[in-house]
Amino acid sequence: MTFDLATISNGLLYITLEDNDLQEYADRTVKYLVGIPGFCTRPVCAIYTIRKKTRTLELAAETGLFRTACDGNHTLKNPDCFFVAAVRTGETTILDRRHCPSNCSFQCEDSLHIVPLKKENSTIGVMALALSTNGGPSDDQLKVLRMVTNIVSRALNRLLDLSEKESMTALVHNNPNPIFDCDQSGEVTYANPAAKKILWQHSIEQDELLPENHLDYIRACMQSEMEEAILHRVENETYSWHYHHAPELGRIHLFGVDVSDQKRMESQFAHDAMHDELTGLPNRNQLMTLLRSEFSVIKRRPDYSFTLLLIDLDRFKTVIESLGFEAGNSVLQEIGQRLNRWQGHDKVVARLGEDEFAIIFEDISNIPRIMELARDINKVITEPIRVTDANIALTVSIGIAIGNSETQTAEGILQNASAAVYRAKRKGVNNTEVFDKEMHTNALHRLRVSNELTDAMASGDLTVYYQPIFNLNDLRIRGFEALARWHHPENGLLTPGAFIHIAEETGLIDALGIHVLRLVCRQLTEWKQSRLPLAWVSVNLSAHQFKRDKLVEEIMAVVVQEGTDPSRLYLEITEGTAAEQPDRAFEMMTRLREQGPRIALDDFGTGYSSLSYLKRFPIDTLKIDKSFIDGLPENPDDAAIATSVITMARSLGMKVVAEGVEDERQAMFLRAQHCDEVQGFLYGKPMPARMATNLLKAGPLRRNPTAADPVGETD
Ligand code: C2E
Ligand code: MG
Ligand code: MG
Repeated sequence: MTFDLATISNGLLYITLEDNDLQEYADRTVKYLVGIPGFCTRPVCAIYTIRKKTRTLELAAETGLFRTACDGNHTLKNPDCFFVAAVRTGETTILDRRHCPSNCSFQCEDSLHIVPLKKENSTIGVMALALSTNGGPSDDQLKVLRMVTNIVSRALNRLLDLSEKESMTALVHNNPNPIFDCDQSGEVTYANPAAKKILWQHSIEQDELLPENHLDYIRACMQSEMEEAILHRVENETYSWHYHHAPELGRIHLFGVDVSDQKRMESQFAHDAMHDELTGLPNRNQLMTLLRSEFSVIKRRPDYSFTLLLIDLDRFKTVIESLGFEAGNSVLQEIGQRLNRWQGHDKVVARLGEDEFAIIFEDISNIPRIMELARDINKVITEPIRVTDANIALTVSIGIAIGNSETQTAEGILQNASAAVYRAKRKGVNNTEVFDKEMHTNALHRLRVSNELTDAMASGDLTVYYQPIFNLNDLRIRGFEALARWHHPENGLLTPGAFIHIAEETGLIDALGIHVLRLVCRQLTEWKQSRLPLAWVSVNLSAHQFKRDKLVEEIMAVVVQEGTDPSRLYLEITEGTAAEQPDRAFEMMTRLREQGPRIALDDFGTGYSSLSYLKRFPIDTLKIDKSFIDGLPENPDDAAIATSVITMARSLGMKVVAEGVEDERQAMFLRAQHCDEVQGFLYGKPMPARMATNLLKAGPLRRNPTAADPVGETD
């Protein structure tokens, strides 16, 4: 049978010209081929393409029985498959009636011609047709087959290229990141929609030139020898750009990556690192940065000076204790806002933490003017604040330090301002102090002493003396008060007056307190082991220690570590400390007592406590301050106070210790009033542990000690 080759090729070309995608084309073609009269022995035909990625033969279209014949499981590695053989050899393979050995369950009555479809020398697919029942196809059939293979190969090539291109184009087009293509002059030749959005945002038409900053990088990119390196990265607000030079095309590709979120997060982090969360004001970090930049101005302009105001709210803890944290925070926010709004002078306001604010006044050093500004600031803060239906009137301590060419560093000026605040606070509430030379000397002294004190704790130079406390009736030792002493290498034996306040100011008192407690606990354990008749030792707690939330745990940890019986420990809290933070004092005292130690209220009479107020506290002992004992028995005021304190303590079930008893007449008066215990130079001065041990061994005092022969240290 002869075939009309022209008609067949026209028919096939016609399908090629239709706007089909690959599947549609293959579908139309297989159907067309089985329809050519006399060409196929059965209407069985299929077209496969090679899927590069998975290296498999993929069925594009079939007609006849092919769905079960070869369903895409044909990896190109399968050596048994006839379809694969056609691909691998690039030659037509003929599969006869036998089953395909590759287990693809092909069943066909006739032989199957499997023809490779090629692009130049490589195979891009196969076409399978049933051309003969036996004896092979005729020459005319083979002619048609060659022509058909040719046309289908070319069409398939074009469609595969097209789909590849289309998918690439889609990839670029739908990319959410901006992609540009521009020529060497910077004129945009292609922009995907994401890029167009950016161009549009910058009011640039697509065929216009890129903005100047991009042009610079494009020039740099073209001059570079490197082909695909990311040469420059420009970060505008939101995008980071990569430039790629394609010299063969005379083009530059620009790829943008949206880094907005990252940038936002970075700037949020940077902001958070520099700002106080509660008030939104610059924090300590930023204040330090600003101070440093002020000093760099001074370096350039030695006549420039600025002022740092350190603002510390007075008794802010009381606000928190009485109204709660929330209210405290509202107060701090309000103050932050007020300070920020206030417009008396060019300034930066910062919050350093807790109740501490700072203001930098730029370009100013005139003290009277600064004092005026400080007064204004004081007014701004002391104006009552309304929080949770209460009007809060705060007072504030202000420390002022001038930044000029003499104060060199940010840390230095902050320290100076802190010293000034400290002095303001010591004067009471609502004071302002300017840092001066004397404070500078004091600051240096403080620094030296606190360093030496740290060393002294480590070396054992900081030790404890014990002052005995006697029962006034039988003159037996009831206990000792532990008093810190410092064997200074140059200045000899120092009493607390020389260093305790410095330890308080520098915060070293916390460590010192624990150090003393540890020595006392060891001593108590030792005395207990020696079976000496001792009831207790009392240890002083400072106001600073009292502010520590973990104080109770810290104390008990030492007691446990040293194996001390906690009931042999008294803790002395001054009346002033308790009065300053009554709620906290109550809570701490209660918690301490629950663990075993007892509580003594020290320096009683100096803190102006009322009786009703005292009743609340879980106090075991009242220690009448020495200043009320001094005037006994003649001074009627002192006598009245001592008498009423003793009576009152009795009625509240507390024991009374009279402190600082120096002569027998005082003792007689106290005995007549039934005071329980006495502590004073008349009976014994503070003494080293060794002497205290001897005293314990010696037993009760003889009846009438005289001030002339006290036991203990000689000052
Ligand atoms: P305080 O707790 O009221 O201790 C009593 C002070 O009065 C002691 O002074 C003691 O030596 C002195 N004293 C006792 N009897 C007499 C007397 O008859 N005549 C005179 N003139 N003085 C007498 P000291 O040892 O100089 O301690 C002073 C203050 O230092 C103590 O007052 C206490 O508040 C504080 N302190 C001492 N050791 C420590 C400590 O380890 N921690 C803390 N936080 N403060 C301590
Ligand atoms: Mg004391
Ligand atoms: Mg005292």
